Amino acid sequence: MFTVIVFILLWVCQIFFLENFYERMKIKDVSRAAQLLLSEYETSDSREYNELLEETAVNHDLCIEICDKFGRPVTSKKILGDCLIHGRYNNIYGFLERIDASDDGQIYYKMKNTRSNYDMLIYGCAIGDSDNPDGYILLNTALVPVGSTVTIIKQQLGIITALLIIVAFAISLYVSSRIAKPITKITESAGNLAKGDFTTKFKGENYLEVKQLADALNYAEKELSKVDTMQRDLIANVSHDLRTPLTMLKAYAEMIRDLSGDNPKKRGEHLEIIINETDRLAMLVNDMLDLSKMESGKQKLSCSEFDIREKMICIIDRFKGISDKMGYHIHFTPDTERIVCCDVVKIEQVIYNLINNAINYTGADKQVYVRQINQPDGVLIEIEDTGDGIEEDKIKMIFDKYYRSENHKREVVGTGLGLSIVKAVLKLHGYDYGVKSVIGKGSVFWFRINQNLST
Ligand code: ADP
Repeated sequence: MFTVIVFILLWVCQIFFLENFYERMKIKDVSRAAQLLLSEYETSDSREYNELLEETAVNHDLCIEICDKFGRPVTSKKILGDCLIHGRYNNIYGFLERIDASDDGQIYYKMKNTRSNYDMLIYGCAIGDSDNPDGYILLNTALVPVGSTVTIIKQQLGIITALLIIVAFAISLYVSSRIAKPITKITESAGNLAKGDFTTKFKGENYLEVKQLADALNYAEKELSKVDTMQRDLIANVSHDLRTPLTMLKAYAEMIRDLSGDNPKKRGEHLEIIINETDRLAMLVNDMLDLSKMESGKQKLSCSEFDIREKMICIIDRFKGISDKMGYHIHFTPDTERIVCCDVVKIEQVIYNLINNAINYTGADKQVYVRQINQPDGVLIEIEDTGDGIEEDKIKMIFDKYYRSENHKREVVGTGLGLSIVKAVLKLHGYDYGVKSVIGKGSVFWFRINQNLST
């Protein structure tokens, strides 16, 4: 379209208005030359003026004649070709009278040259006062007919137009295909992705923008695929964690009905198992609820001031029952009393979960070490166990929802949500946390209660 518009303009200017343009240009050119000659007439000496006449005649393709007020030639310059003034065409006096009669002391008009087949432009202007002139400058130039030029241009333009329209069409086809092709491919891939094919790859070709679009879509696909895997894991884990206690509940309930109903000792044992499994189920559901609330941002922190040392002693006390019963030993190394300000219930849950994990995963010596280390701008809490430790590549994953190491034992009561809750709470508070682990020696889980933020 652009090429067609350019050519329409070119045709209109070159073919239809060429003659008009040419004449106007010629008139302007001649009048400029006359003005120059007029301005130099008084100031230059005759030799200089002669040179100027010569130069102007050649440069502007003109016949020049300067005549006195009676129309007698004073000096003249003639170039090759027809010169009407030098031919002293019939009515030179009539021409001079018309100059006198004109408002601004100058006239021009087109005239048929009887000796050749093209027109002449005659121009005349008065020297000095136009009412009583000292003389006249007369110029004439040939108006070369543009008809033949137009015919040549027409033929050339015709060929160029046809060629360029074909080339422009080919270029636009090529360019549009270069842009459109990768986009079409990306659209196809997006269709596959929408159908759930996460193996599809977006390829961006040719253009930076298309490449960026492809990169963004590849990234989105990776994230979607992660969500998809997580969703699948979640369903698998939740259904597994729900099914196991449910199966046991059913089995023990049936045993009580059919076998141990009349045996108080056995019935008591079976009821104990049912209660434990119900606790496990309740714990799972509570953890899921807590975590989803925290992650959706619905749960706000309700901060209060408390002594962290006292709180830790209190939490460790809660493990006394299990420690005594199963032979675990929790060594607490307290620091001095320190008042911190944070959500006490949630931080309690963090410490509880970490100690619980340490007990679950500690080594055969059943030792767990808990430390409170006061620092100038916070309190560092460390929970150490003597277990197998965690491999480097697993450390990143253990804080993920429902991640449980493949070799965890069923005796280890857990939901795979404990560390996710730890992470969510600490992130909500803006506290640093982490794990240092040595394979075969054990792990140290730590977090830092920041007092600059909390006080
Ligand atoms: P759960 O303990 O219920 O499995 P968590 O989110 O608390 O879930 O822990 C996730 C995983 O991190 C555990 O399955 C275990 O593999 C690993 N883990 C957590 N704490 C420790 C620890 N102290 N030592 C070794 N591994 C641990």
